[in-house]
Amino acid sequence: MRPLPTLEGADAPFWKALRRSAIEVQRCSSCGTHRFPATRYCAKCRSEESEWVAVSPSGTLETWCVFHRPYFDDLPVPYTVIQVKLDCGVRVFSNPSGVTTSALRSGMPMTAVFEDIEPDVTLLKFKPKD
Ligand SMILES: [Zn+2]
Repeated sequence: MRPLPTLEGADAPFWKALRRSAIEVQRCSSCGTHRFPATRYCAKCRSEESEWVAVSPSGTLETWCVFHRPYFDDLPVPYTVIQVKLDCGVRVFSNPSGVTTSALRSGMPMTAVFEDIEPDVTLLKFKPKD
């Protein structure tokens, strides 16, 4: 069986939002800084007050790498992992969708793709913005 994310716990609002084709991250109620994965304190101002908010599904491709060694059963290699900086400033690790690895370019504008892989699991992937 392919590896699946843990849907419960501190990041549960993120996974629930993906089911609705939305991206939600934590936002500090004191200084407004977005963050993900979930943390108790804001790294910028140390406030403990935060809320989950929807953010733009747009970002910029920063870098990527190709995994040739299998680390998980039923996750065929090679596969590409990308680092995308969302417009809200949060960095996420993801996979490209609908684009070959050789076509990836650093700084490329990307938009979210919501891929339903299980009845209760949606993955966040990214494709180049048109
Ligand atoms: Zn803060």
